[in-house]
Amino acid sequence: MTETRAVLTKASELWRPYSCPGTAECCQLSKTGRPPWLWPSEWELLRERLAKDRRPVPPARSDGGCPFLDETGRRCTVYEDRPFGCRTFFCHRIIGPTKQPADATNTLLERIASANIAWQSGAEPRALPDWHRQALAEEPRQRGPAGG
Ligand code: SF4
Repeated sequence: MTETRAVLTKASELWRPYSCPGTAECCQLSKTGRPPWLWPSEWELLRERLAKDRRPVPPARSDGGCPFLDETGRRCTVYEDRPFGCRTFFCHRIIGPTKQPADATNTLLERIASANIAWQSGAEPRALPDWHRQALAEEPRQRGPAGG
């Protein structure tokens, strides 16, 4: 987890020269069809965030958006602990230097992969909605779909 936190911090530093209009379109995962893929340690960080905040795993959203969006559908409720993919401005609305730090990003991704494989033999990344579905299945008293 320590390595994952360090890598996520590095990723944010690496992409600091970039920004976007903050429409949260990229968080509308059903619409984009491009959910972030998380290694187990990234999902674990989100679970830790929820535990610290004394929040349950959020229900699925009726609009297909990321379940970690707030009720308005425009703000990430786990921003400080958001996954790697959510820090790298993969959408077309990116604003910033033309040459994006692809190589350095891949190096950081390799660090997360190595840390996870060292942590859990056979570890693999999974799409955020898959992690979320599994977590809901493990918590049978979750609420139904939220608005959005
Ligand atoms: S974790 Fe946050 S930034 Fe990432 S897709 Fe979900 S709401 Fe958006």
